[in-house]
Amino acid sequence: MANITRDFFIGLSNNRFLNTQAKKWGFSLGADKFVAGTTVDSVMEAVKALNRQGISCTLDNLGEFVSDKREASEAKDNIMTLLNTIYKENVDCHLSVKLTQLGLDIDQAYCIENMREILAKASQYDIFVNIDMEDYSHYDQTLEVLDALRNDYDHVGIVIQSYLYRAEDDMAKLKDVRVRIVKGAYKESEEVAYPDKQAIDRNFLKLAKQRLLGDTFTSIGTHDHHIIHELQAFVDENHIDRDKFEFQMLYGFRNDMQNNLAHEGYHVCTYIPFGDDWFGYFMRRLAERPQNMNLVLKDTFYT
Ligand code: FAD
Repeated sequence: MANITRDFFIGLSNNRFLNTQAKKWGFSLGADKFVAGTTVDSVMEAVKALNRQGISCTLDNLGEFVSDKREASEAKDNIMTLLNTIYKENVDCHLSVKLTQLGLDIDQAYCIENMREILAKASQYDIFVNIDMEDYSHYDQTLEVLDALRNDYDHVGIVIQSYLYRAEDDMAKLKDVRVRIVKGAYKESEEVAYPDKQAIDRNFLKLAKQRLLGDTFTSIGTHDHHIIHELQAFVDENHIDRDKFEFQMLYGFRNDMQNNLAHEGYHVCTYIPFGDDWFGYFMRRLAERPQNMNLVLKDTFYT
């Protein structure tokens, strides 16, 4: 049953028609639980509130599956505006971007040009930019784009998904690159990804421990308290400097745990999505955890 529910929401998240229509509906279906508004002003309020609690942020100006240059160029312009705002407001915040929003499906060279513009501005402001990892059909291209960008920029990072069999090999090639480790949010075939949760969790821990023993900064992107507790113990046992890593969680998820970790002296970063292209992101969150649906229904119909 859990798999059917998951497949249903993942199917919706990939539906381009619904993704486009949802922009016209405005913010609805309880998406505001997990998406911090549609404007830069609304997201800045959320960033400042989290910063006051000692939590840094990474902003995702939502968008994916862009298929024409006008839309990709608009997305890039919005990200440039966002960089200006982060700098001007002097908030503790970096960026997360999706390459399909910046034209990866149109032309890889064009996408790289857009990223270069973003990274040039971000480097001027000393703002880090992380490239989110999308579904496996974009995986090799995403690594190729990163490779091209790394020739000229070092304030750009990537995501490793522990559900992929090749995650460990790819991570080994990225030992100088800042990486966010996550379990993986897309529906992938058994040919490329572990189908069962235990194997994904085991791989997550293995990858995270390898990185923690290395020298490069790592973001641990999970809400899973089992994993977080095991990694806390590992860090203590191995006397690992807390400045070498951070816990990252999504906006609206496990706020108490985010606050507690920050109070205990760990670096915590909240990933905040915002904007009108919220549908795909929101559906993937419902796919991950049916309880998220309960939360949304409760707020939509009982309050
Ligand atoms: P799960 O396997 O979903 O949960 C494990 C256990 O943790 C649950 O059984 C439950 O006991 C507990 N738990 C989880 N959530 C809650 C909750 N809300 N309340 C109470 N208990 C809970 N995926 C990508 O493919 N590409 C990306 O670029 C990407 N970036 C991400 C960035 C961040 C900061 C995060 C946190 C996730 C990102 N993801 C990304 C999504 C990720 O791949 C997972 O799909 C998602 O995080 C769910 O997995 P989990 O590790 O949180 O644990």
